[in-house]
Amino acid sequence: MDRKTLERLIVEALQKTNFTRAVDLAFTYGYRTAPSIASGLEMWTRDVRFLELMFGNTPWLLAAVPQDVQGQLRLIAGLWHLLGKQEALQIVRLANGHLPGTHIGSHWAPDMFLRHAEFLAMMETLRERAAQRPGLRLAIRTAGDDFVCQACRQMAKMRYKLHDDFELPNPLCTCKMGCRCHIHPTIY
Ligand SMILES: [Zn+2]
Repeated sequence: MDRKTLERLIVEALQKTNFTRAVDLAFTYGYRTAPSIASGLEMWTRDVRFLELMFGNTPWLLAAVPQDVQGQLRLIAGLWHLLGKQEALQIVRLANGHLPGTHIGSHWAPDMFLRHAEFLAMMETLRERAAQRPGLRLAIRTAGDDFVCQACRQMAKMRYKLHDDFELPNPLCTCKMGCRCHIHPTIY
C-alpha cells in the first residue's frame, strides 16, 4: 500500500473514532514495531488509549479555536502519532500563519493535542499507581530555551499533587511554538 492511501485509511478510521483500526493499520504497514508480542500488545493498547484521550479532550490552551479547525488538528496529530513526523504528510498540509483564536504558529498547533494526550495518559498512569507511591509530587519542566514564556517559567516553579487542578499544555502559555513543558515526578 502506498503512503498516501495508508494516510487516507487512517484518517477515515480516526474520523469514525475507530481507534483500534487506525492503530492496526500503523502496525500492519510497519510504522509501529515491537521487539516481542507482549510489548507489541502493550504498545497497541497504549496507542488506542492515547487516541481516545486525544479525540475526547481539548486542551484549555486551544479552547478558542473553532471546532472544525480543532478536528483537522486532531487528524494531523493522530497521523503524527501513528506514522511519525520524519516524512511529511501527503494528504494534509499545515496552514501558514498562526492558529485562529491563538498566538500559536499553525505548524506547531497539532503538537498541543499530542502534548495534552501525553499529559492525560501520564496522569492516568500516575493515579493508578498513587497508592504505591504516596507523597508523589509533580514538577513541570520547560523546554529550557530562550523561547519559553513567562507563564511557563512560573509554572515550572510549582509543585503539584496528583489531584490538583492543572494541565499541560499550560493554559496561560504565550509561547509562539506553543507550550513544550512536560511533567516530571518528584518526591520533593
Ligand atoms: Zn509558554
